[in-house]
Amino acid sequence: MEAVVAAVRLLADRGLNQGASGNVSVRRGNGFVVTPSGVSADVLRADQLVAMDMQGGWSGAWKPSSEWRFHRDIYAARPDAGAVVHCHSPAATALAVLGKTLPAFHYMVAIAGGSDVRCAPYATFGTQELSDAALRALDGRRACLLAHHGMIAIGKDLAQAVDVAVEIEFLCDLYLRLLPLGAPPVLPAAEMAVVLEKFKSYGANAQVVKAAT
Ligand code: 13P
Ligand code: ZN
Repeated sequence: MEAVVAAVRLLADRGLNQGASGNVSVRRGNGFVVTPSGVSADVLRADQLVAMDMQGGWSGAWKPSSEWRFHRDIYAARPDAGAVVHCHSPAATALAVLGKTLPAFHYMVAIAGGSDVRCAPYATFGTQELSDAALRALDGRRACLLAHHGMIAIGKDLAQAVDVAVEIEFLCDLYLRLLPLGAPPVLPAAEMAVVLEKFKSYGANAQVVKAAT
């Protein structure tokens, strides 16, 4: 579970999270392991991670992330999800405050699995309402924005979930730079379909490198 701690630190080091904001989980057995609530990246230890079942049950000294519901609901609804990253990264959160969908203004938007990244309507943090809204926005996607809150990224494993979060933050930053210049042009749906098809085999080298290390 050191990988979860490393991911939390990476997100903090890259400026995608600050203090205790955000949370990370990985699927494990019939449930998942999630970061504890309110513990900042710089003091987080692997023994503080909380193992949860799909009913929301847990034991131990450390309370699970207040957002365990959307982590649980993603694992229940999405067999493709092996890890979930949530962050309050500056650009994604700024776009989320505006309630904007990230359109296909750059081909890398396809990293989230479709031709846009939706923004879920606002709901209080830690609620089932937020989880329900997030699951709807994540339909067919590996990422969504959360209005007035932040971003969620999903991966088949932790490395992919972190990659998606980092890339979506980059794209939101780029998009915010363009917005003052007028609505950025977007790629045609047919081109995004081509890119999405190419993405099915792109990255094969990364998998070989991972398997060899
Ligand atoms: P936790 O510290 O409880 O995980 O909450 C942080 C957060 O981002 C809530 O949305
Ligand atoms: Zn949050």
